[in-house]
Amino acid sequence: MSAPLTLDENRYFSSNPVERDPARHLYEKVKSMPLLCPHGHVDPKLFANNDPFPDPTELLIIPDHYLFRMLYSQGIPLESLGIPRIDGGDYETDHRKIWQIVADHFYLFRGTPTGTWLKHELVDVLGVKQRLTGETAMEIYDQIQETLQKSENRPRAMFERFNIEVLSTTDSPIDTLEYHQIIKDSDWNGRVIPAFRPDNVTDLGAPGWRDNIAKLADISGIDTSTYKGFIGALEQRRQFFKHMGAVSTDQGVTSPFTIELNETEASQLYEKGLQGKSSEEDARIFTGHMIMEMARMSIEDGMTMQIHPGVVRNHNRTVFERFGADKGCDIPSATDYVHNLIPLLNRYGNDPRLNLIMFTIDETTYSRELAPLAGHYPALKLGPAWWFHDSREGMLRYRRMMTETAGFYNSVGFNDDTRAFPSIPARHDVARRVDARYLAELVAEHVLELDEAEEVIVDLTYNLAKANYKL
Ligand SMILES: [Zn+2]
Repeated sequence: MSAPLTLDENRYFSSNPVERDPARHLYEKVKSMPLLCPHGHVDPKLFANNDPFPDPTELLIIPDHYLFRMLYSQGIPLESLGIPRIDGGDYETDHRKIWQIVADHFYLFRGTPTGTWLKHELVDVLGVKQRLTGETAMEIYDQIQETLQKSENRPRAMFERFNIEVLSTTDSPIDTLEYHQIIKDSDWNGRVIPAFRPDNVTDLGAPGWRDNIAKLADISGIDTSTYKGFIGALEQRRQFFKHMGAVSTDQGVTSPFTIELNETEASQLYEKGLQGKSSEEDARIFTGHMIMEMARMSIEDGMTMQIHPGVVRNHNRTVFERFGADKGCDIPSATDYVHNLIPLLNRYGNDPRLNLIMFTIDETTYSRELAPLAGHYPALKLGPAWWFHDSREGMLRYRRMMTETAGFYNSVGFNDDTRAFPSIPARHDVARRVDARYLAELVAEHVLELDEAEEVIVDLTYNLAKANYKL
């Protein structure tokens, strides 16, 4: 028998009992509360079809770029991990072989959030009792495979078992939302909602932008050959998304640059795009203008607006050309919020009807820029620690750097932001534990009374997400 795999009940709390005991007490208050998942990337098809997960590799490895980026960094080719090539090249399709490679290298995830999540998934979701190593790989594979065939492990049943109250996906304006419709039409009551993410039509430089604009015309029935028509089509798609249950929009932009153009200026840039003549600078200015437009639309239709800036996408061109986007080669870069947001916040930041949630992966901006901005403008809130910082240390840094200036109540609770469905409970559990740890420290140091911390932990776990996303 190999070494046992267990989850300690005091994990991520301080080792000092003066802090650990209140942390444990606070965590117990929220550990079983429903999961609100207002931002993420799970494929709605999972719940539309409700087919059993085919095998452990398909469940845990192939959809998770957090996982294969680490393996890639240690010289393991993505092809060998079953990542499909978009250029027609070969890739491994034997899922047992892929699983063996991951198990042989599982030690690489020590101390990382991916390791934390996988451990939680193996123990708590899949009932694995021994550590994953090269030796135990096949035995564990067979055990998970058997587990996945049981009806209680189909996607809808897992959704219920995880106690998910609502799960938002992320969808393009030219998506038909057919899988959401299937879920709505089914006799299943799980709440899976779309979110409106227009990057592929608002960014003139997006791959296939002109085709996307043509598709936007088809799907909305509105002529998009003019800027006015384009705006009308976006407004119409937002209404459709809202009708399908959407409560939020999201924009992934390199920089949170904003600028207000008049209609003539915006039309000129749009038409240049249609003629295939836009420069990078045109695209930057048009995107900056479209952030303003999205804020205007949010004020009108009430959808919460999210911005996820500061990521240089597809940094590794070879990987992008071979495998496409979202393959673990998106890299954070320094982000300026203070200057870039002047037009947006001066125009809309005082309007209480706007609910703008800003994210960052440039942690230097937490205390210098974002906490002061969110601690002032009524329309602005801070999203949770995101992506590389969706981790024990990252969340703790977030609270330490934000709280004194922005308080708890200019943050919006937790988002799991995951593609990997079975990692959802693990991610929420880490957030609840880290918040409990942070609050316990404040209690131990007499910054907060215990009863205040008891209220705050419930708000951080549940009430803030519910209110800010109008769930
Ligand atoms: Zn996301």
